[in-house]
Amino acid sequence: MEKIPQMDEFTIISEFFLKNKGKRPDVLLGIGDDCALLQAPNTQNLAISNDTLILNRHFLPNTPAQAIGNKALAVSLSDLASMGAEPAWLMLSLTLPEADAQWLAGFSSGLFALADQYNISLVGGNTSQGPLNISTTLLGFIPPHNVLRRSTANPGDDIYVTGFLGNGGLALQVLLDNFSSKTLDKNQANQLLFYPPSRIKMGIALRTIASAAIDISDGLAADLQHILDQSKVGATIFTSKIPLSPFMKELSNQQALELALGSGDDYELCFTAQPIYREAIQDLAKQQACPCKIIGQIETPAGLNILTDDGKVFDLPITGYNHFNSRMKNSEPL
Ligand code: ADP
Ligand code: MG
Repeated sequence: MEKIPQMDEFTIISEFFLKNKGKRPDVLLGIGDDCALLQAPNTQNLAISNDTLILNRHFLPNTPAQAIGNKALAVSLSDLASMGAEPAWLMLSLTLPEADAQWLAGFSSGLFALADQYNISLVGGNTSQGPLNISTTLLGFIPPHNVLRRSTANPGDDIYVTGFLGNGGLALQVLLDNFSSKTLDKNQANQLLFYPPSRIKMGIALRTIASAAIDISDGLAADLQHILDQSKVGATIFTSKIPLSPFMKELSNQQALELALGSGDDYELCFTAQPIYREAIQDLAKQQACPCKIIGQIETPAGLNILTDDGKVFDLPITGYNHFNSRMKNSEPL
């Protein structure tokens, strides 16, 4: 791999991150000074989210740099989507073991390809040497009365999931050689794990419809539980209604459900809405080509009941990713 030892942090910034300035008029001063100066809208709240990607925890050593660049932004986009926010400005903190031009070219092209799609400007960051670590802070806007929170689900609401679940968990199993798939090679697995769907448009469309929302980054069971805890409600969901990834046909139903419920990195939305919105939500799902499936209902008594078709309680051994309990995200073998 080509290495340019003389490339210092300022060369890295100007070569790979300054070129693509974005074209937002609300960036009064972008990369180059001690701070960025941004013109926040008068009538909207700022929504801010930070995420970190760490080698051997969020990605493996052979992950293409472009894929890491895409995912560094995609995970933060997912947080903004879950609250109904519109993304605008990005900060990037990069800690690199060495100035590897090829890696930086791949990483920045992945990052900017996604940023351009959403008219996001990179407005600043930090670059230093050390163990590989990538941290992004994404800022966006949201009208104050339309924020989608975790704490506002009500008994009687339907519970929805967008897209399909289990892709992230299955892809990691393939990449770790824990599972040899007949339909999913490692390139496709990287595609699934590092290029999750973006639900920004769906989040914005749900601002006036959903009662609560969260993005599914640590597994449906764990993430839905956050809505239940914060809203002080309970729920019943049905395993037969969970939208399983089409790539999971090779697995047993039990394995597929364990991945869909218990593994993370799907970046779909889980949201709640009153039953009066069923038709409106299905219209939206069609317009946006984003399937929205009802998987159960919010109830008054606390607790999450996961039921099979014959009314039995589904036994879920893994209850979601937890940074201080697990080695690599979703790395429990099938
Ligand atoms: P300071 O030392 O004052 O914090 P730096 O010299 O570290 O500033 O950075 C110079 C400029 O480059 C700043 O505007 C900073 O926001 C920006 N910057 C540094 N690293 C990155 C990066 N990885 N991506 C985007 N902008 C960056
Ligand atoms: Mg300074």
